[in-house]
Amino acid sequence: EGAIEIDGITKVYDTKGQRTLAVEDVSLEIEPGEFVVLIGRSGCGKSTLLRTLAGLQAPTDGAIRISGQSLYSPEGKAVPEVIGDLGFVFQDANLLPWRSVWKNIALPLEVQRMSRPDRRRRAEELGELSGLSEFLDHLPRQLSGGMRQRVAIMRALAPEPSILLMDEPFSALDAITRDELNMALQLIWLEFRKTVVLVTHSITEAAFLADKIVLLSPHPGRLQKVIKVDFPRP
Ligand code: ADP
Ligand code: ADP
Repeated sequence: EGAIEIDGITKVYDTKGQRTLAVEDVSLEIEPGEFVVLIGRSGCGKSTLLRTLAGLQAPTDGAIRISGQSLYSPEGKAVPEVIGDLGFVFQDANLLPWRSVWKNIALPLEVQRMSRPDRRRRAEELGELSGLSEFLDHLPRQLSGGMRQRVAIMRALAPEPSILLMDEPFSALDAITRDELNMALQLIWLEFRKTVVLVTHSITEAAFLADKIVLLSPHPGRLQKVIKVDFPRP
């Protein structure tokens, strides 16, 4: 559960005859429960690789397996059951503005047709874990940017995916809020032991969070270095 195999991924964008080689022949194995941080210069293909991992765009070449199952069909369509095991957090929290915090957290559970009392209970549990308890009945606009990003993380975790994918989730926040969220994220990871792949351009963030740091070379993105970070976890 939660293993990711990236096998020779190449991604070429073709926009109006303009070809861009964004990612070239990247292979990587991610173990269940591992916290992987993807770093590299701007434009080196980090987001491309993450979007491909998220099932949002098929690679031009290569394959991705999640817990042993192919993420894309031979026609390049993401397989719904496999995507169901992935949660995403993007730079922008993308909350529904007219819905309260708890309803935003519970949104994926509504899609799964979970009953309202069960959704509320689950949102309360997640709220407690992330310091959102007192804001559950607020609207997103009443929250700070950092708190909104916590809501986005909890929404991603609500359906209990085994993998969490995050693309620069804190880059729009100030330094103090970032530090707080990195701390919160580590606590959440310790609690749930999800497989995490996080994209950042911050080396500090990478060193603080990662079990494994994956460095992509400047454009086009190739695997430049994989660093195992070996320090004791609580
Ligand atoms: P990073 O996340 O590391 O900044 P990206 O994955 O966003 O890098 O971009 C890698 C390269 O692919 C860049 O040259 C970028 O301009 C190009 N690129 C990214 N997305 C698209 C797209 N949708 N269409 C065409 N080119 C793209
Ligand atoms: P809830 O289940 O939390 O009450 P709803 O999805 O029913 O949330 O929507 C709450 C309110 O937001 C309703 O008044 C609805 O008309 C409004 N609403 C729903 N979807 C949109 C939308 N896409 N844009 C703007 N307002 C919307």
